[in-house]
Amino acid sequence: MPRIEIDELRCKGCALCTIACPKKLIATSEHINNLGYKPAVFEGTEVQCTGCALCAEMCPDVAIKVFK
Ligand code: SF4
Ligand code: SF4
Repeated sequence: MPRIEIDELRCKGCALCTIACPKKLIATSEHINNLGYKPAVFEGTEVQCTGCALCAEMCPDVAIKVFK
């Protein structure tokens, strides 16, 4: 099953990945990371994620890995 991993320590909370995901599986979390931002969090399931990698391609900080 496709899945993603978001490296919270690299994420600056720009939310571009939340816009990029056609399934709307990524949201902005409520907690603060070590950089002082609210990091993105995957809220879907492996069944929902298609592995399209649009989220990873959009991320300017290379914080998302996609596993197919
Ligand atoms: S790989 Fe595609 S479907 Fe999965 S979270 Fe990223 S943008 Fe959404
Ligand atoms: S696009 Fe990258 S840096 Fe921006 S919120 Fe998503 S994971 Fe974080």
